Amino acid sequence: MDRYAVIGNPIGHSKSPQIHRLFAEQTGEQMSYEALLAPIDDFAGTLRSFLSDGLGINVTVPFKEQAWALVDQHTSAAQRAGAVNTIQRQADGSLLGDNTDGKGLVRDIQHNAGLSLAGLKILLVGAGGAARGVIQPILAAGPAQLCIVNRTVSKAEALGALFIDLGPVSAAGFQWIEEPVDLIINATSASLAGNLPEISPKLIRPGHTWCYDMMYANEPTPFNRWAAEQGAERCLDGLGMLVEQAAEAFLLWRGVRPETAPVLAALR
Ligand code: NDP
Repeated sequence: MDRYAVIGNPIGHSKSPQIHRLFAEQTGEQMSYEALLAPIDDFAGTLRSFLSDGLGINVTVPFKEQAWALVDQHTSAAQRAGAVNTIQRQADGSLLGDNTDGKGLVRDIQHNAGLSLAGLKILLVGAGGAARGVIQPILAAGPAQLCIVNRTVSKAEALGALFIDLGPVSAAGFQWIEEPVDLIINATSASLAGNLPEISPKLIRPGHTWCYDMMYANEPTPFNRWAAEQGAERCLDGLGMLVEQAAEAFLLWRGVRPETAPVLAALR
């Protein structure tokens, strides 16, 4: 049986084993997929031990940057993202690192929700690892502008500078931007603690602006509750992104892209 896994710390909450089991059932692929808890101080050892026999692995918090440093080659998405969430062991034993988070986000917004990013004014809130991972795929979709805002402005500016050659990207502080935009993507971890990034409600044009929180939960997230109160046209959470990034990993490993809609419906 071909073996795959997700590795992280903590890992008990991960939905990836369920998602990949459903993908394997649907496509008839003969594979197993498990959850691996890596000690905080021995990610590399746990990874290498699994990949001596396993064919691929997904990497989650807090190891995506370490994974980037450990692999032998990067896809262009991973190279730009500075983080790896999917590793494939190749025929010669070398490790290829990819980052499918951004492709997953863009696919969820464009394909599942039906909002084309071409020509849109987009605000990306946050400048951590998740934000960095999605900038290249968003710019590839052709927005009119992508403005990165962050509590710590210098981090937004550093990210903007990293991607300036790829499209119309800019950076700002929370209080600097008040004009309505078409789409706001929350890539902060504020929702995890029940907090909101302090962005202006004027950014939302009622009945027009879409909002996307990369976090997901059984209840609407604090950010999406706030966005709905401001009259946002649609409020989406990151469960679709999670399933779509998994489908991209599955495609890399198995050469077949599973249908995501039934899996997303099962998880909901
Ligand atoms: P990081 O720790 O790398 O970055 C956290 C970011 O959140 C920083 O920009 C930080 O700002 C900002 N932040 C934290 N608290 C607040 C606050 N109270 N107000 C304003 N800004 C705040 O985290 P990640 O980038 O790895 O993850 C961010 C989110 O994305 C998480 O919720 C994670 O679950 C989600 N995610 C979802 C995925 C999916 O598949 N759906 C995939 C990957 C991530 P500052 O720089 O000022 O500290």
